Amino acid sequence: MGIEKQKLIMKETTEKWLKNGILCLTLLCCCLMVKAQEKKKKTVFVIVDGIPADVIEKVKTPYLDQIAQVGGYTRAYMGGEKGTYSETPTISAVGYNSLLTGTWVHKHNVWDNDIEDPNYHYWSIFRFLEEQYPEKKTAIFSTWLDNRTKLIGEALPETGDIRLDYHFDGFELDTVRFPHDEDRKFIQLIDEHVVAEAAGYIRKEAPDLSWVYLEYTDDMGHRYGDSKRMYKAVEGADKQIGQLWDAIQYRQQNYPEEWLIVITTDHGRDAKTGKDHGGQSDRERTIWITTNAAGLNNYFRQDQPGMVDIMPTIARFMDIRIPKAQAMEIDGVPLIGPVSISQANIQYEQEKIQLRWKSLEKQGKVKIWLSATNDFKELGRIDEYLFIGEVPILQEQYTIDVKSMPSSFYKVVLEGPHNLLNKWVVLEKK
Ligand SMILES: [Zn+2]
Repeated sequence: MGIEKQKLIMKETTEKWLKNGILCLTLLCCCLMVKAQEKKKKTVFVIVDGIPADVIEKVKTPYLDQIAQVGGYTRAYMGGEKGTYSETPTISAVGYNSLLTGTWVHKHNVWDNDIEDPNYHYWSIFRFLEEQYPEKKTAIFSTWLDNRTKLIGEALPETGDIRLDYHFDGFELDTVRFPHDEDRKFIQLIDEHVVAEAAGYIRKEAPDLSWVYLEYTDDMGHRYGDSKRMYKAVEGADKQIGQLWDAIQYRQQNYPEEWLIVITTDHGRDAKTGKDHGGQSDRERTIWITTNAAGLNNYFRQDQPGMVDIMPTIARFMDIRIPKAQAMEIDGVPLIGPVSISQANIQYEQEKIQLRWKSLEKQGKVKIWLSATNDFKELGRIDEYLFIGEVPILQEQYTIDVKSMPSSFYKVVLEGPHNLLNKWVVLEKK
């Protein structure tokens, strides 16, 4: 090889090396930039007690409107599926627990505000987060001590001894600082106290997952029904939510963080007076959800979301991976990102299970699983499922012949590419 040619090769090699080197450097820079841009995800969910959807739509709520403009607002439902095994009382603690666990009352077992015997086999969103990310910080700001000690079940062996990193609650028991009065002014003061702390704490500490609970609106509903007093309480709650929203915006402007806020109510009120709740009337069952979430899906925009959908939404946003055995038990569907199927319906007739669902995607298949045990509910153990088959999503129905598997109980799971649905058949035992 001549010297000239050798030089040429060397030159070419050097150029190539340089080029590749630059390419590598560029790639490295890109990776570093992506890393730097990756924002920490944080969530606050707020329950404002007992505000019917028609009331929140009628009263001026500028802060909720601001949040909805970033994300969205939708009517939603509480109360499980009316007239079926999952029908759920429109009562406060029952609703909070449906939000926390993503399940209706036939699973979580909190039937009223006494919270006698919650079924902790259905984990709360706090437990899922702590289990996967023990270093992440959790917080609660609330009037009602039971929210932490009974529903989340802090420090109980049944909840794996879960501990929140910060709590600011139980003030309803402090009658010296907040003397109880007939007109429930003390609850209004406690809500103010709780929100001020929550907003300050978010600004300073930015907990990863927080629950803010506000009670005063429900008190005014019970006392005055549909009235100016109630509307005024709703306006007050909106201002309090504004304080939280300001704190979140402050964090987003000053830190590499992405915040999700979800605001909802736990039940509506009776149509006649606006004082009561607990039943299954449309107005009691109709709630609402306001959120700043990005990527709200068609299920949120066009379908009929429920209280139980908030938990899987937070899980998806926070990158919480729910193990399949537990995901198969959740009644909710995420409100952000892709969703394959919704509105499952189950009918049993003459040893046949007729399934129907609504397809939200055109592509893909639905796997169908069947179990005749309920060990998950009773023992916290994985049920044994029979794989029944796989059909195109668009088929929207399937019939299972269960003649060879006689039982008074069946559990069916529909598994789409992006979400699962869970339905029971509960028959009278012969
Ligand atoms: Zn309530």
